[in-house]
Amino acid sequence: MARKCVVGVLNSYEDAWNDYRRRRRFALASVAGVPTYVLAFSALPSHLGSWFSIIVIMGLWILVLLSLGVSLWRLSSWRCPRCKQEYFMRNRTHNPFARQCRHCGLRKWALDPESVSA
Ligand SMILES: [Zn+2]
Repeated sequence: MARKCVVGVLNSYEDAWNDYRRRRRFALASVAGVPTYVLAFSALPSHLGSWFSIIVIMGLWILVLLSLGVSLWRLSSWRCPRCKQEYFMRNRTHNPFARQCRHCGLRKWALDPESVSA
């Protein structure tokens, strides 16, 4: 019974960290999308100045920025698998490079609920 409970905790932590990895990959792809879009836009021939092309370019730019905003919001609002608080935010301050939970101190990538930084 206790063994099953420990395995359940490990799986939930592993699932939570996998979710964090997915959110981080999406955020990195979105951040990389901004300069990619700007480079692609600057490589377009200048004769593409019709209203239609301007609307398409602006629409794509809005999608790139929306993707960036959503991905960064999802990454920063990711919750700690132990205390269920926002892992990177505390008291309206945000540290995206935090190596431990800003509420309970759970180390990054820890699968053990007792793993706390010294
Ligand atoms: Zn925590």
